[in-house]
Amino acid sequence: MTISMNRRTLAKVGTLGALSAFFGTTVQAQVKKTQSPNWDEETDIIVVGSGFAGLAAAYEAKKRNADVIVLEKMPTAGGNSIINGGIMAVPGTEIQKSKGIKDSPELMMKDTIKAGLGLNHPDKVKAMCEEAYPAYRMLVDELGVKFSDKILKHEGGHSVPRSMYTINGRGSEIVTKQLAALEKLGVKPRIRTIVDKIFVDPEGRVIGVAVRQNYRFGKENSGKPKNIKARKAVILANGGFSADVAYRS
Ligand SMILES: Cc1cc2nc3c(=O)[nH]c(=O)nc-3n(C[C@H](O)[C@H](O)[C@H](O)COP(=O)(O)OP(=O)(O)OC[C@H]3O[C@@H](n4cnc5c(N)ncnc54)[C@H](O)[C@@H]3O)c2cc1C
Repeated sequence: MTISMNRRTLAKVGTLGALSAFFGTTVQAQVKKTQSPNWDEETDIIVVGSGFAGLAAAYEAKKRNADVIVLEKMPTAGGNSIINGGIMAVPGTEIQKSKGIKDSPELMMKDTIKAGLGLNHPDKVKAMCEEAYPAYRMLVDELGVKFSDKILKHEGGHSVPRSMYTINGRGSEIVTKQLAALEKLGVKPRIRTIVDKIFVDPEGRVIGVAVRQNYRFGKENSGKPKNIKARKAVILANGGFSADVAYRS
């Protein structure tokens, strides 16, 4: 069985059903329901993508002693995350308090749902708003990410100023610290490694991926095929869908 899949399939997946929910029209990767293929390598957890999401997932898994492989199709790690604006909306920061701004995860949730015209998934908005401050503290206290202690901006869609800026105004301040923390734990993203297929066993459990190593972006058939088994999970963190013209349309 083959189902088409593309970049928007960045979600945690455990079953073929869950995978199918994310598929679109552009065939960039495929899900293959199969008996075990010949595995070239195995690990506990495979993470697809090396932006904020993939690096965070890999770090948390590695801290819990899992064997982790991070796969990245591009020649450098970091994805969109490394070029982003470094702006992070966080309710309840010290800088807000010093300016007498009253904020809370509940208020941020209300703002986010309003700005999303009510189309948001409330459970995901809730998680984002409740975890924003702990995530910000973790970035600062554990990874050493530096945010400006002077800039607090009132971005569109927010009812109060709550946007923190990284010290260099780029996501690279976060990504480079994530990469350094991961490297300390012995994990380096494998660049130029594109994931083509996700293998699913007859019970519907995701069991691994087919990749091409030494893939060259722009040369779509390039690279050497290899199958990697995931003993515990495949985490899809391969980014957004704005380059998927068919889906957007
Ligand atoms: C210019 C810009 C500025 C932004 N500024 C902000 C901001 O200031 N604040 C904010 O909150 N948000 C901002 N955003 C949005 C934010 O950057 C993204 O939401 C975030 O980076 C997404 O992170 P991610 O880890 O999900 O994906 P990404 O960082 O996109 O990482 C996905 C990775 O997966 C890889 N990949 C894809 N397919 C495969 C495959 N088949 N095999 C292997 N690897 C694959 C990609 O090459 C990529 O490296 C900005 C976005 C852009 C583009």
